[in-house]
Amino acid sequence: VLLKNIQEAKFQAVLVPIAQRLLSPEAASQVSFDMFFTHILVHELAHGIGPHNIQVDGEKTTVRAQLTGLYLELEEAKADIVGLWGMHQWMDQGHLDASQRDSLDWTFVASGFRTLRFGVKEAHGKGMCIQFNWLMDHGGLRIDSAGQVQKDAPRFREAARLLAKEILELQAHGDRSRAEALVKQYGGLRPELAKLLERLGDVPLDIAPRYVTAEELLLQKRPS
Ligand SMILES: [Zn+2]
Repeated sequence: VLLKNIQEAKFQAVLVPIAQRLLSPEAASQVSFDMFFTHILVHELAHGIGPHNIQVDGEKTTVRAQLTGLYLELEEAKADIVGLWGMHQWMDQGHLDASQRDSLDWTFVASGFRTLRFGVKEAHGKGMCIQFNWLMDHGGLRIDSAGQVQKDAPRFREAARLLAKEILELQAHGDRSRAEALVKQYGGLRPELAKLLERLGDVPLDIAPRYVTAEELLLQKRPS
């Protein structure tokens, strides 16, 4: 179950201010709730892609067991980046509106900063750190002299495809050394990204939903 009003509150309170702070006005104007919400759904679907049970050197094992200690951040990164790749595929195939490509990418980037702020000690934050560093090192994203995030659309898309492939393959093979190499190279918060996060100090980290109907029901139940 995805609660649309809660996601919309997050989008308005956190994601839009982040976009206005870190993207060009043109890019920030393309950030879209529809793309945000659809990507959350596709993220969850993408968790289902890839095997649980595998064989390594002829022995039955699981991806989780092979990648212990690295599994969660790679699984979250996989869900994000396979989700992004998948939505572009759907646009290629006409299942989603292909005029929304830039909107999807910028929403992904703004949402990525939202996730990065949870910190690299948390699986979603570390997973996003891996994605940002990868996208930057592959020429898909860069930070310009004005401190705004800029995108090279074809390289961004190709970098996303390559990272999706890398994580899906290392999971499928239960390849621990490949996982370690990926996390070692891309899993640390680099100074240029940390500098951007510093500019978000007064943007809320998240929302705190209030379930007013539940509160009312609890009040009614309380003995007078
Ligand atoms: Zn997830």
